Amino acid sequence: MATAAAPLSYSSVRAYLECPLRWKYLYIDRLSEAPRGYFSFGRTIHSVLEGAIRPLVLPSARRTPTGRAQRTLEDFHPGSVGWPEATRAALPSVESVLAAYQRAWVSEGYNSAEEEARYRLLGAEILQNYWRGLVHDPPQPVAVEEHLEATWDGILVHGYVDRIDRTPTGGLEVVDYKTTRDLSEADARQSDQLTLYQVLVGENFADPVEKLTLYHLRSQTPLRTDARGRGALDELHGRVTSVRDGIRSEEYPPTPGRQCPRCDFRGICPAFKEVPDTERDRLGGLVDRFRELREREQSLNQELAATAEELHKAAEQLGVHRIPGTRIVAIRRREETWRFDGTEVDRILANHPVAGAIDRTDPNAVLRLAKQGDLPAEARQAITAAGSRRTRWYWELER
Ligand code: SF4
Repeated sequence: MATAAAPLSYSSVRAYLECPLRWKYLYIDRLSEAPRGYFSFGRTIHSVLEGAIRPLVLPSARRTPTGRAQRTLEDFHPGSVGWPEATRAALPSVESVLAAYQRAWVSEGYNSAEEEARYRLLGAEILQNYWRGLVHDPPQPVAVEEHLEATWDGILVHGYVDRIDRTPTGGLEVVDYKTTRDLSEADARQSDQLTLYQVLVGENFADPVEKLTLYHLRSQTPLRTDARGRGALDELHGRVTSVRDGIRSEEYPPTPGRQCPRCDFRGICPAFKEVPDTERDRLGGLVDRFRELREREQSLNQELAATAEELHKAAEQLGVHRIPGTRIVAIRRREETWRFDGTEVDRILANHPVAGAIDRTDPNAVLRLAKQGDLPAEARQAITAAGSRRTRWYWELER
């Protein structure tokens, strides 16, 4: 049974944040979900890639439980001499990769034989292209499909990392394969999964994590970002802590949202309980009335926005901020909000004494630092350049 002390994975944290009740169904009641073709497909591809990459792995120094670096005999692999030729020689042939693919195929969850056949072709194409990339530019993996655990500031976390590579500068790169259709650089920059893997690899390996990569298999594109800075790590730790605390206090409220249509537990979820027959007419009438009001609200909001915009244009032309009506005065106000690229701010503040003194997830604190902080002018300018400003005008009414 999952408890507050059981290690939390990325998918477990995400499931709890999305809906604690669904998390309970999955991790405490151990209810199973219906198989889905895209999960089967992902599992098949991952297992074939694991088999293809494992012969290339040259292990790397680990940390001991006390945090010290420790090299083992395995680190001194004869294959580490002569990379990439030695690595190319260790590569399995494309025929053996495709044969492994046929053996590993999982048929579960596809909507039809035709859909399964299309996925099967897609998988074969992905693997052939991936293999070509391996031959052309072989990586230096130090681990593949590695299960890692760590205690992250008091919280047990774990995960399976698809691949960990040696970088050209001697650090480590965490690689997570994605079989999804669409993936962007923003996904890589914002991926909580990569952030958690950085923590796991950082706590278990002696060398520093330098790069985090989502590898888009359909296009063979590595979407690479720098390792996260303090701000992003603290932000995720806060979320993981809230999940740990919720589980500890056994809080599992249903949280209806966009995920519900995909949830297999709607049949038992209290949020989807049927309305009793005796209440159907009365509540049905209320729902219709609510819809009517919503529509009126939308059209009123559009009219309100258009009127405010017309007033704004007039105020700009005339250079005024107060416009009197017959019984009331409209006052124009300006609001400015900032957002900062947390990774860039971390980079600018690295090694600076004020770095630990501010909450870097708070844009106002970062802005104060840029305007009046105890920082060289160059760093203040760089922080301002790492931010984007949004200005909003709005109207208030005064008697
Ligand atoms: S149906 Fe929605 S609210 Fe209910 S358990 Fe599933 S995700 Fe949660």
